[in-house]
Amino acid sequence: IYLIILSLLILSSCNKEKSNLSEEDKFVSKLLDDMTLSEKIGQLNQYTSHWEMTGPAPQNSESQNRLEQIKNGDVGSMLNVTGADATRKAQELAIKNSRLGIPLIFGYDVIHGYQTMFPIPLAEASSWDTEIVRLSAQVAAKEASAAGLHWTFAPMMDVGRDARWGRVMEGCGEDPYLASVLSVARIKGFQGEDLAAKNTIAACAKHFAGYAFSESGRDYNTVEISPYTLHNIVLPPFKAAANAGVATFMNSFNIINGTPCTANEYLQRTLLKEQWNFKGFVVSDWASLKEISIHGAAENLKEATSLAINAGSDMDMESNGYIKHLKELVEEGKVDESLIDDAAKRILKIKYQLGLFEDPYQYSNIEREKIEIYSEENRSIARKVARHSMVLLKNKEQLLPLSKQVKSIALIGPMANSKDIPLGSWRAKAIKNSAVSLLEGIQASVSAKTKINYAKGCDLTTGDRNFRQELTFKKDNNSKFSEAIKAAQKSEVVIMAIGEDCFQSGEGRSQTNITLKGEQMALFNAVLKVNENIVAVLMNGRPLAIPELSEKAPAILETWFAGSEAGNAIADVLFGDYNPSGKLTMSFPRNVGQCPIYYNYMNTGRPTSTNNVFWSHYTDSPNTPLYPFGYGLSYTNFEYGELTCNKARITKNDSIEVKLSITNSGKFDGEEIVQLYIQDPKAKYARPVKELRAYKKVLLKKGDSKQISFSLNPSDLGYYSPDGEFLIESGTYHIFVGKNSVEVQKISFTLKE
Ligand code: BGC
Repeated sequence: IYLIILSLLILSSCNKEKSNLSEEDKFVSKLLDDMTLSEKIGQLNQYTSHWEMTGPAPQNSESQNRLEQIKNGDVGSMLNVTGADATRKAQELAIKNSRLGIPLIFGYDVIHGYQTMFPIPLAEASSWDTEIVRLSAQVAAKEASAAGLHWTFAPMMDVGRDARWGRVMEGCGEDPYLASVLSVARIKGFQGEDLAAKNTIAACAKHFAGYAFSESGRDYNTVEISPYTLHNIVLPPFKAAANAGVATFMNSFNIINGTPCTANEYLQRTLLKEQWNFKGFVVSDWASLKEISIHGAAENLKEATSLAINAGSDMDMESNGYIKHLKELVEEGKVDESLIDDAAKRILKIKYQLGLFEDPYQYSNIEREKIEIYSEENRSIARKVARHSMVLLKNKEQLLPLSKQVKSIALIGPMANSKDIPLGSWRAKAIKNSAVSLLEGIQASVSAKTKINYAKGCDLTTGDRNFRQELTFKKDNNSKFSEAIKAAQKSEVVIMAIGEDCFQSGEGRSQTNITLKGEQMALFNAVLKVNENIVAVLMNGRPLAIPELSEKAPAILETWFAGSEAGNAIADVLFGDYNPSGKLTMSFPRNVGQCPIYYNYMNTGRPTSTNNVFWSHYTDSPNTPLYPFGYGLSYTNFEYGELTCNKARITKNDSIEVKLSITNSGKFDGEEIVQLYIQDPKAKYARPVKELRAYKKVLLKKGDSKQISFSLNPSDLGYYSPDGEFLIESGTYHIFVGKNSVEVQKISFTLKE
């Protein structure tokens, strides 16, 4: 009797479990039951498409073979197939020919827009504005999904401290808190409320983890990073992304503690899937599985395959490892089939959530593609986002904003009339030369009477600017300077657009010299001799070391690569239609020798100097950055009232409130980003001198004041031990509030046991 009751109980609990399963779970487990091992492995395989799916059958044998593999169910996903027509055709190959007709998932690098280009992510981060960032990703998702895409390999949330690394343009800058908040906003923009809606796409938190710490800023270089830095600086944005429900993760090329991330079980299984409870799937970075053996951590591709699947890499991008070796590894008993079941289940679930089983073609709609891509509405949103992304670095004697009635403007510089550079790198399907140039933007903004004297002044790069080519910087012996000098002589004011070529930053675009290259500084100096009213408009994808420009130019506006509407948005700021409100999210060094340089550094045992004796310092440069993290000016002036705090002591169940008033005492309405930093001056493990923990962006009409208050909980004071344990320690804490990471007021309180 006992046994009968026991088996009835077990049976009923099994039934209960089954009936508790969601429709999604039921569907996916039924499908998995029907799949052969090879079909499951097929789901784990991702290929790129360099061939035109709309054109004649691919000529080379590898592409031909890939077509056959799709038909055979050996491919679960493709990247780089874009457009409603091409994606529909590729999808048909899978649906109509494979035994189970499982739809493909199409991924693509939609980093800052699909065809309507938004500012590069580092620029958008300068807005510190979650709504702006969300909106930009939402439009990108709308366009990408109209082109048949289901999935973007974004946002990149690598915390970037080294401006030499070309990929800092793809991230949010040097602070883990800000990178968390803004990356979550991007994920919400891409994924919306419902992944199945036809205008949303799956996001991908990348690169997991530590890629931005490539030594000496050289892309793909090895990474040396302590577990302490890993837990406190690198991982927080990824944890925030997992908590926010990001659909996928991408691992990274580098090693952590001797193990390549693609083979890293601690990161992908223990942390991500077990501790953070991530239910989506992990895609490898491009051929990173193959690179496990190039790193020297596996004998060959077969061993790399076994390491990667065991470590929790679910999908293999372009290594051919899973498709070639997983089956034999299972048959040889070296890989447990349950790992393949788990990876396939995760991928199928995301396909289900995207609605692909209901209608695999819902995204591939040519009519929708025509209407929704590069629409007026999208471009006007891009203009709005671009205005919010600019940072006013200098404005001596309020040279800016300029009057639209100004009689004459000399517009000079290699970026001044470029319709290409503002599109930036990672430009997805942007049409070549489609950006509004600065010249066009200014022409549309100023009065009909204003004379614009344009002269390029100098070229920047020559030859091939394509991916993985070296850039050559022009030296043409000042041959074009004379035109620029003439233009400056006959104009009231000079606007000089200088900076970087858009392909100086991005993947594989690291630099040892991050100054103004070529003849740009010489051009600036030649022009300055004849006209001192120069507004420097910077276009660049990383912080630049520009001490000379910073000293000599009366006004500097950092515009980054501002996207399709760059020229219009820059003109909006130059002529006062928009009061700049952006603040830097990466420190600008004085010289490249200071890199990596960041605000949340650790105290050394020896200070910079005491009584004119210098300790931890350079003999040829101050330690401080040229422009610090959080820095940015406005056309108006914000006065900060006294910082107060409601308690001198709190317990671990309490919260603390700090307050201050801000007054707009200038002549323009404007937005200010009020920043709150903390410091734990004596802790079990040494803590940074400052850490951003909160901020508020407030709009203040001229003459208005506002009370700003922040509430901090003990958990806001915590940090991770080198083992990844979250600690909240009692003791004294300092709070700093101010307009950037340097100009702050300080107040202290105690956290009691
Ligand atoms: C990059 C990834 C990108 C992938 C696919 C890789 O080289 O590191 O960020 O998503 O290529 O294009």
